[in-house]
Amino acid sequence: MGCSKCGRPGVIFQEYSGLHLCQQHFRQDLLHKAKKTVRQNHWLVPGTRYAVALSGGPASCALLDFMHTLVGERTDISLIAVTLHNNEPDSMENAKTITESLGIPWFIVPDDNAEIQRGNRFCAPDGSPFPAHASTECQLRHVAEQMKFDALVLGYTLEDHAEWVLRNAISGNTYHKSGYATKTLKRVQITRPFMHIPRKEPDLYTQIFLNGCVENAGADTRVDDPISLLLARLYNRHPGVPYALVNIGEQVRQFRDRVS
Ligand SMILES: [Zn+2]
Repeated sequence: MGCSKCGRPGVIFQEYSGLHLCQQHFRQDLLHKAKKTVRQNHWLVPGTRYAVALSGGPASCALLDFMHTLVGERTDISLIAVTLHNNEPDSMENAKTITESLGIPWFIVPDDNAEIQRGNRFCAPDGSPFPAHASTECQLRHVAEQMKFDALVLGYTLEDHAEWVLRNAISGNTYHKSGYATKTLKRVQITRPFMHIPRKEPDLYTQIFLNGCVENAGADTRVDDPISLLLARLYNRHPGVPYALVNIGEQVRQFRDRVS
């Protein structure tokens, strides 16, 4: 099917927009949506050193490329990539290759990092309403002081954000203000540029545009729990559901901001 905007061969059909997009318009669309999220949340602050959480999976590589596009030319903002050491050689190799090709300083946090070990005591994944990413986020917050970064850029997608909203609702947790570490840690702004973008889009972005530097650019293998699996099946049948959940979450947040 041809691109709805220019007629060239399409690479994706977006159920939620009804559009077929070619490579060029797909790239424009993804970057535009991520920039809009960054702008609306006032996440770009001069003088900030941003650390992109780079697992080496395709979505995290797309995230690094997006941040490089956004701030690579700026002299008042700096960008690094941080990877929690893992035993997947392909992921580590991807992270190494993409940081080298973009010229971005890359830091690996070793397994035996003392800060991480201390942090792990506070990072029990089942203690969080958002186990899919909570552990990574928590561990990286604990090295913010060491690696001198002020903001953490995470590859949360639309589905992750929808799941977070739902888990908050199910668990009855107060929809607490996220974004900063606890007072014993360095203050770290948490940013999620892909939070309104379906997961398959950053994966596709990497397959198409970063193919030269990312091996095995298939979809991220994820550690899924029953709720994530149920949601994935639901989204397949009803692609509008994650958007509805995120909208509900936004309304709750606005209500909370008004009353607090
Ligand atoms: Zn097009």
